[in-house]
Amino acid sequence: MDRNDAPTVASDALGRNIHDLRISVTDRCNFRCVYCMPKEVFGRGYRFLQKKELLSFEEIERIVRVFARLGVRKIRLTGGEPLVRSELELLIEKIAAVDSIHDISLTTNAALLSPKRARSLRSAGLSRVNVSLDALDDETFKAVNDVGVSVQKVLDGISAAADAGFDSVKVNMVVKRGMNEHSIVPMARYFHGTGQILRFIEFMDVGNTNRWHNDAVITGAEIVDSISAELPLESIEPNYKGEVAQRWRYQDGGGEIGVISSVSQPFCGDCSRVRLSAVGKLYTCLFAANGFNLLEFIREGKSDAEIELKLRSLWSRRRDRYSETRTVESVLLPKVEMSHIGG
Ligand code: SAM
Ligand code: SF4
Ligand code: SF4
Repeated sequence: MDRNDAPTVASDALGRNIHDLRISVTDRCNFRCVYCMPKEVFGRGYRFLQKKELLSFEEIERIVRVFARLGVRKIRLTGGEPLVRSELELLIEKIAAVDSIHDISLTTNAALLSPKRARSLRSAGLSRVNVSLDALDDETFKAVNDVGVSVQKVLDGISAAADAGFDSVKVNMVVKRGMNEHSIVPMARYFHGTGQILRFIEFMDVGNTNRWHNDAVITGAEIVDSISAELPLESIEPNYKGEVAQRWRYQDGGGEIGVISSVSQPFCGDCSRVRLSAVGKLYTCLFAANGFNLLEFIREGKSDAEIELKLRSLWSRRRDRYSETRTVESVLLPKVEMSHIGG
């Protein structure tokens, strides 16, 4: 079951139901992707969070339980790089034990996804894995990750995930003009016919450190056109209302791709996601400036009922629709960094 349109308990000011909670478990990462954690900002002098500043697994589990009462059914673990948080499996086990959570997924760069790790994540209760890979040639990929990790390392991680028997393994590619547009067609060709769904993501103005500008965005329509010229595509229906990726199928039966056009074709109208940052702040939009300090609230000794009341009131007042109202000015407003909120 993977639906976002079933009625839930909490509805926001624009009538959107809450369904998904994305949890960033760390602000640390073993990559320095130039569009996410550029070295000039996230270099040696950067102060990463200390363990006590992060939500503990017990705190996260408690938050998940309360959110489940509001209607959350899907959990995504992200970061930074979630696999650098030690003993992540323990957290997955705790979340998997929450009755109404039926889907736990992980977004990872896969550099640490060995076959053994993939199996232990699977047995802990992880349902699905999304691996990020932005190019198929080492020159481009190493220039993107900026720490010298090879493409093969990530492809090995993808194979490890495929062998571990997850419900799905998807591959996400962020496309940025001047960075990797020449990799669009090779990536499509590589994953064509494999059963692994490749999803293309438009470069977004998350945070304030990645030097986003509109000209760097290659739109979903441009991406589909360039693939279709070689491997003809046809559009297909979404799997469920609120699915962020538009689906396209190869006319030759080679499977499907997804295109996430959050800049050129925003989907705020169906946005059912709430995000918990590594530092325990709750954001009702990826592009928000401020989050509610849930970590502090919990550590003040609040009861579950008080937490539930607070979450309900935060969601019910929500009016976010940033991508539908993006302007030249809004791009420059202070926003939470991707490495804190996790995408
Ligand atoms: N480290 C993990 C990874 O890379 O998969 C999880 C965290 S990462 C922030 C989550 C996703 O956000 C990745 O697929 C990454 O490529 C994507 N991302 C990061 N910055 C982005 C941006 N400015 N625009 C679009 N996607 C971005
Ligand atoms: Fe790390 Fe993921 Fe950001 Fe790359 S996109 S720097 S892997 S958090
Ligand atoms: Fe949701 Fe904000 Fe993205 Fe719109 S811009 S889809 S409200 S996270």
